[in-house]
Amino acid sequence: MASKKPVNRPSVRHPSHNHPLRIFKSQEGDEIICSGCELDLIGQAFKCTKKDCDYVLHKSCFDLPRETKHKSHLAHPLTLLHSPPYGHSYTCDACGQYGSGFTYNCSECQYDVHVGCAFIPETVKREDHDHPLTLVYSTPCKGREDGAMFICDVCEEDMSENLWVYYCKECDYGTHVHSCAVYEDHQPKKGGGEGGRGGGGGESSSAAARMKSLMKAQDEMAAMEMAMMQAQLDAIDAAGSYVGSWEPRRRYYW
Ligand SMILES: [Zn+2]
Ligand SMILES: [Zn+2]
Ligand SMILES: [Zn+2]
Ligand SMILES: [Zn+2]
Ligand SMILES: [Zn+2]
Ligand SMILES: [Zn+2]
Repeated sequence: MASKKPVNRPSVRHPSHNHPLRIFKSQEGDEIICSGCELDLIGQAFKCTKKDCDYVLHKSCFDLPRETKHKSHLAHPLTLLHSPPYGHSYTCDACGQYGSGFTYNCSECQYDVHVGCAFIPETVKREDHDHPLTLVYSTPCKGREDGAMFICDVCEEDMSENLWVYYCKECDYGTHVHSCAVYEDHQPKKGGGEGGRGGGGGESSSAAARMKSLMKAQDEMAAMEMAMMQAQLDAIDAAGSYVGSWEPRRRYYW
């Protein structure tokens, strides 16, 4: 009576995708890439309900704020776009790598940051360097008149002056923020799984760490909302089944 279609599991909508999504928990070793941040997908997520559609989002990507004021770009707020504004890809102004999923974008400046780069930690410690490295939003060589470029101390490639750097001023030591960076707070053990984004090996562990820090930042930014969602998800976990245990009472507007 109440409903004609057989509703097994509740679905939710997200403005980034035309089909309904439902809660999904990826297992270690699944090697799934999030359609939003394009990083490894581990843990709680939302997946497309259509059989032939691979669309899947981290829960934290599902919940990303529509707009963020970012330290790297104080002139304008950055707006979350669900696809690149310039065709099918963009270049991330933080890490210099391509993106084809979500971006935090300033349309006025054509400034783009991967959603995974937007919330990386402001300091990191790496085992092969004595001092903590601080995130800076351009290279130390920016504006130099002799045109000298900063060289990443890990991959030894030169870096365009507007890229972000993890930097130790004392030693003039710095790294890219993507696969060259090592994040503190490592998970004890990771499943294999190479990162899906081009950029060479070694991406996946830092990608996972980056996702972790993204989730952490999300927690801080929207703690209340997350707590609510978490409670719902926990309830589902506890029930051990999706059936009838969860009603999407509210819709997700951005
Ligand atoms: Zn994601
Ligand atoms: Zn779909
Ligand atoms: Zn990036
Ligand atoms: Zn701008
Ligand atoms: Zn590098
Ligand atoms: Zn140092």
